[in-house]
Amino acid sequence: MDAVVSGSALSTGDGEAMSAPVFGPEIVSFEPATGKEIWRAPVSDIDEAIKRARRAWPAWAAQPLSTRMELVRRFANEVRKDAEKLATMISRETGKPQWEAAAEVESVIAKVEVSIRAFAERTAQRRFDNAMQGTSAVRHKPHGVLAVLGPFNYPAHLPNAHIVPALIAGNAVIFKPSEKAPATGEMLQRCFNRAGITSAIMQFVCGGPEEGKQLVAHDGIDGVLFTGSANTGININRKLATRPDKIVALEMGGNNPVVLWDTPKLTDAAALIVRSAFSTAGQRCTAARRLIVKSSMYDSIVPELKSLADRLIFAEPFAEPAPFMGPVIDNAAADGLTESFLYLLSRGGKAIKHLVRPDENLPFLSPAIIDTTAMPDRPDVELFGPILQVIKVDDFDQAIAEANNTRFGLAASLIGGTPQEYNRFWANVRAGVINWNKGTIGPSHAAPVGGIGLSGNHRPTGYYAADYCAYPVSSGELDQPRALIGIGLRSGGE
Ligand code: NAD
Repeated sequence: MDAVVSGSALSTGDGEAMSAPVFGPEIVSFEPATGKEIWRAPVSDIDEAIKRARRAWPAWAAQPLSTRMELVRRFANEVRKDAEKLATMISRETGKPQWEAAAEVESVIAKVEVSIRAFAERTAQRRFDNAMQGTSAVRHKPHGVLAVLGPFNYPAHLPNAHIVPALIAGNAVIFKPSEKAPATGEMLQRCFNRAGITSAIMQFVCGGPEEGKQLVAHDGIDGVLFTGSANTGININRKLATRPDKIVALEMGGNNPVVLWDTPKLTDAAALIVRSAFSTAGQRCTAARRLIVKSSMYDSIVPELKSLADRLIFAEPFAEPAPFMGPVIDNAAADGLTESFLYLLSRGGKAIKHLVRPDENLPFLSPAIIDTTAMPDRPDVELFGPILQVIKVDDFDQAIAEANNTRFGLAASLIGGTPQEYNRFWANVRAGVINWNKGTIGPSHAAPVGGIGLSGNHRPTGYYAADYCAYPVSSGELDQPRALIGIGLRSGGE
């Protein structure tokens, strides 16, 4: 396996994710667009947090389901009341434009009803009558205390996609947001508290990778619900390899392909590709990283893509007119992406649109497009930023083979082609999200969302999050004991 399976740099990697500046026992959050400090707090005492959660959990699990559902609905109301403030904080901490942060807040709210429905459909109580054998029942129980580890790019919506289903199922949650977006996490916690879910049941802890490791290794944690890079996910998986008693859900990165086949709708195709590659400055797990294009379409699509990408505004999140995208998360990420782009160039890549960093002291990057068809060994890593690689192919089999030329398996799209070609694409491409004439980004959380390969451990989130937040218990039940031994008894017994 390559040294680096995910991350913004191609050159090096020790298997651990890069962390934000940590000063002594404090976590400091900086605004990527300005470099200004916006928040700081001491790291939390993880042992204490777990003790608190364990004390509080049984009473929460014993609450009627209707109470827990009512409380998460109140949480959605609290988020609605604070929507603007929360969106502003998301924009400040991640650099994403205000309109996009507002959409993230809407997703947080929408998640509540989706999770309530999913709990009922995926993990509801079921009873089967077995005549004389009584009743068989299937019910679900919560795991206990779950650690939720969040990523920086969707610091409210994605941890929340674990937290809300976990709470509904009756778990206590210890939520450690990314060290790069902790203030958003703290705001989310306050919304839960105002809704009546105590800070022992939904507990924010402040910390970085070290605190994440402590949570993962702690005996007081019954499971880890993680969204982040493949490197970190693999580390967590490794740490818990001898702990089958802990539930582990890993939502990780991708090296996602878009295949462009025959279509007369070039403008739409270009818009889908550009949105997939450059939304959130390319910092989405489902972002298109590789455009695999039929060679006969290359000369028509490439100028379309370039001229559209040239027009994208990248600026600070509150700028007027509103930008399409903001900066990447920090200078270290921008340095890594710049290095990666140069690496691709030095190994045979041809720039279609260069990666430009207008201010060396800030992490703003232009969208970049590079043709890597001629590169003999394209690195199979997730470049978490606005870099799109273009690869030319001659036939559809080659396109499918190229789409699968990755250890990841999160999202894939076919743009153009016939229904028969889409059927072949769907059947042969390995990914958890496969689309036709749509981009790769923005999968609906009303459906399961997850990947295979290095993108996840077969525990998709979204609609199926209910599955990993509770375990099934099968029960055979009769009002009174009733039994006899039918075969194998000596006769004559009284
Ligand atoms: P990251 O892996 O650096 O960090 C994620 C979380 O894990 C953070 O809270 C971090 O503090 C913690 N952590 C880091 N090292 C740890 C360790 N050794 N043990 C325990 N916890 C540890 O990820 P990131 O850079 O914040 O997020 C970007 C990544 O997340 C990208 O790879 C992206 O593709 C992925 N992502 C995946 C999905 C998905 O649904 N599949 C969604 C969003 C982002």
